[in-house]
Amino acid sequence: MKRSIELSYKLIIFDVDGTLVTTKSGATFRKSADDWQWIPGRKEKLLQLEKEGIQTALASNQGGVAFGYFSHASIIHELYNLVDEANIGCVRWCETHPNAPIQEYRVDSNRRKPGPGMLDEIIKYFDMSKPDTLMVGDRPEDEQAAQNAGVAYMDAETFFSS
Ligand SMILES: [Mg+2]
Repeated sequence: MKRSIELSYKLIIFDVDGTLVTTKSGATFRKSADDWQWIPGRKEKLLQLEKEGIQTALASNQGGVAFGYFSHASIIHELYNLVDEANIGCVRWCETHPNAPIQEYRVDSNRRKPGPGMLDEIIKYFDMSKPDTLMVGDRPEDEQAAQNAGVAYMDAETFFSS
């Protein structure tokens, strides 16, 4: 029997938008904090990983806060809905953006992917080793964040079709 790839890892960190969820509005980026829906089958896959004893986590850039598209409180609320529905063990997000029009969010942070900051925080939270960690995402900045953190990377389409 084929051994599935994810069983080689003890911790899998997922990007959120475009990886686990898509917008309800059809826009590329969320129009509002609650403009999201699960991509079919992905919540079930996360619940299955949890059953297999694999830790799951989220690392999400949410620059929409920095641009004033939605509030800090509303995106926390929506991300925790996701966490609850899929029994996710840890969530990190980054609301800052180097070009943000709102001054308090105009920060060039290494937490924002492609920086490794959020991935490092999650690995530390679980006291996990880097070789035991996989990052799954849909964009170049996810792959670069994985590279910068020194962990393996897999594209979401490949991961969820295996
Ligand atoms: Mg994405």
